[in-house]
Amino acid sequence: MQTDMLIGGAFEAGTEREETVLNPRTGETILKMPEASTDQIDRAVRAARAAFPGWSRTTPGERSAKLLAIADAVEANAEELARLEALNCGKPLGAVSGDEIPAIADCFRFFAGAVRNMHGPVAGEYLEGHTSMIRRDPIGVVASIAPWNYPLMMMTWKLAPALAGGNTVVLKPSEQTPLTSLAFARILADILPEGVVNVIVGQGGSVGDALVNHPGVDMISITGDVATGKKILGAASKGVKRTHLELGGKAPVIVYGDADLARTVEGLKAFSFYNAGQDCTAASRVYAHASIYDNFVADLTAAAGSIVYDQSDDGANEIPPLISPRQRDRVASFVERAAELKHIEITTGGAPAGGSGFYYTPTVVAGAHQADEIVQREVFGPVVSVTRFTDDDAVIDWANDSPYGLASSVWTQDIGKAMAATAALQYGCTWVNTHFMLVNEMPHGGLKQSGYGKDMSIYALEDYTAVRHVMIAH
Ligand code: NAD
Repeated sequence: MQTDMLIGGAFEAGTEREETVLNPRTGETILKMPEASTDQIDRAVRAARAAFPGWSRTTPGERSAKLLAIADAVEANAEELARLEALNCGKPLGAVSGDEIPAIADCFRFFAGAVRNMHGPVAGEYLEGHTSMIRRDPIGVVASIAPWNYPLMMMTWKLAPALAGGNTVVLKPSEQTPLTSLAFARILADILPEGVVNVIVGQGGSVGDALVNHPGVDMISITGDVATGKKILGAASKGVKRTHLELGGKAPVIVYGDADLARTVEGLKAFSFYNAGQDCTAASRVYAHASIYDNFVADLTAAAGSIVYDQSDDGANEIPPLISPRQRDRVASFVERAAELKHIEITTGGAPAGGSGFYYTPTVVAGAHQADEIVQREVFGPVVSVTRFTDDDAVIDWANDSPYGLASSVWTQDIGKAMAATAALQYGCTWVNTHFMLVNEMPHGGLKQSGYGKDMSIYALEDYTAVRHVMIAH
């Protein structure tokens, strides 16, 4: 298994403290991996700086060709990458190879096209005797910090627009899920010039902190927890570095009285529990109208209870375990505290699944009130709260009553009601009669403490480039 880091054109092992990488399905140790030293972090940043003048001067067409080659290589190595991601995250292999790998290849292809097709205001004589034009230029060295829930896909969301824009990158995957990032580094090293992408491993507090504080870094891009995002902002403020923050979420789901119940329940079975709810857009906070509340809770309970998750035959499983014992215990403690409240009923699940893997049973927490912790805080597990509502205006206030602002959905057959709700919701994305679906042409990113900056779409390419004005006196 590839455990060496990519620094410049060479592969080398970290020299510091060893991190234990676990198999979440069994609890067994996959391997131990030493993290990068201060010298290795410094050399990775210097390699990215040294590569920047050459890479940033390539034409969009040249960078596009490299991104297309990367997409082809992802497909050619799909089996190995999917197998490693499934092993490291405990994901069902079919979910990685069927959902994630195609989206990853498509992301590189999207940015390969987008960089050849950037738009802006037209050049012209806005001051007599002077011609003005707009340029979009790369920012420099980007420090990219990825989370553990979709390691290779998050790496892709960061690399593809940064490389398309002409930047060079030092990427640090989560210390819990480094395997696919390091395997992908081997693939990238064969395609890209030396130093354009560097991959180093280690914990956030040591390697991540040293990387984002390095004076040779021009921009920091992080997907992670809100608390981590705040630390990044502190580090960025010292050098006034550009930041791109994709932080947590607590997506509200409004189910109106006229919603197609069967379709809604079928949708939420997938959109609330996919990846065991370890998804920043997970449909985790449902508001169900009083007229359909009892039927909805009964049907969602049955649907959640039918999810297959801990079979030894991985092909049968619909969702993975949680990433670590710590995450499983965190999810359990949220549900335990909710269950202590008199108005709450746990209608299915409500406990770790037992066994040596980190599974937690798909859980529905019914009767939740707006002020309850289970409604307010991100659980990041296979747990959905359901809150009864009667007033269509008040439910919008409840949905917006959150420090997060990433994703939301409304379920109704009344298009006017859907549009009015969509306009009033303060979220980076609102789905109508669906949830969770993403496409590379459209932006993904939050408002409020969910952060700012967009992944995917032309807006990501804008985030990873700087707008410049050039004026020529005649
Ligand atoms: P995390 O914040 O603990 O870690 C994310 C990454 O940041 C890891 O690589 C970690 O090592 C690094 N890190 C931690 N402290 C750091 C520091 N001081 N300096 C530099 N780097 C540091 O998050 P996680 O537990 O890996 O992922 C789960 C979180 O990510 C959830 O809150 C989830 O909502 C969020 N998330 C958001 C999105 C989105 O698009 N908005 C997508 C996926 C996950």
